[in-house]
Amino acid sequence: MSAIKIDGKAYAERLRGHVAQAVKALPAQPGLAVVLVGEDPASQVYVRSKAKFTVETGMRSIEHKLPADISEDALVSLVRDLNADPEVDGILVQLPLPKGLNSDRVIEEIHPDKDVDGLTEASAGRLSLGKKGLRPCTPTGCVMLAKDTLGDLSGKHCVVLGRSILVGKPAALLFLEQNCTVTIAHSRTKDLASVCREADILVPAVGRPQMVQAEWIKPGACVIDVGINRVPSQRFEGKTRLVGDVDYKPARDVAGSITPVPGGVGPMTIACLLRNTVIAACHRRGWDVPS
Ligand code: NDP
Repeated sequence: MSAIKIDGKAYAERLRGHVAQAVKALPAQPGLAVVLVGEDPASQVYVRSKAKFTVETGMRSIEHKLPADISEDALVSLVRDLNADPEVDGILVQLPLPKGLNSDRVIEEIHPDKDVDGLTEASAGRLSLGKKGLRPCTPTGCVMLAKDTLGDLSGKHCVVLGRSILVGKPAALLFLEQNCTVTIAHSRTKDLASVCREADILVPAVGRPQMVQAEWIKPGACVIDVGINRVPSQRFEGKTRLVGDVDYKPARDVAGSITPVPGGVGPMTIACLLRNTVIAACHRRGWDVPS
């Protein structure tokens, strides 16, 4: 039997609808500042859609587009200005930054209360200590989709494949917060296939096209594929297509539920960013956080 397709696009649309409703009920409009440095085409696309959805949900989008040769000090100074700006509730610096700019230093300048990407040391520390704070967007989206599909995640064995700061590590902590038993696998893990086969919830976040084979999946498991990989199209010469970290078609015959790529985890990231902006605005301005 074919797995249930987890429709991240539809879920993200609903979530953006909730955000828009919440924004309407707030005393003032939250503002999200997005900083884009350089001309990276993928980053430009991401920033455009972030701005579009920010406005669509009734918030203010404040965009700062800067040349690739901007100095690190000038970038830090902009982030400090945004920290001090009372109209700005969330700050996002689009990564990766061009060569020569130290993204760790720039991210660390973001005030934790405006860190809607959840990437500062303070946000990571709050997450690992189980304290309230802004959580990274993509991993939050993974947990939402798993909960929407499976209900209570308590006691489920979750295997996160990948341990990056952006996805793998925070995803593992967020599934732990849901009372899952969590295993983190990575490039040095022995017998990856057997480790993955233990998973009730498998979360591949490696960036290797179609690496996870159907035989790695426990029958009936929920597969949340974070990978977004561009590969040459088999049908159209010279064109490319997006695939995940999972070999999707054969995996569908084994898994109980699975996210497609595109249309799975991807759309959740921006929706969670918008939700974080509302949460940040409410905390900072002393408003009740909408449920
Ligand atoms: P990173 O390259 O930072 O991390 C990849 C992780 O995968 C590392 O921990 C690495 O292990 C592990 N890994 C790499 N190769 C193997 C292997 N052969 N076997 C086992 N583990 C391996 O990537 P990100 O975490 O930033 O992103 C992962 C994927 O998720 C990418 O495809 C990216 O495009 C996608 N992504 C999707 C988003 C979305 O919105 N849906 C948002 C962000 C990312 P080690 O630490 O040992 O090197």
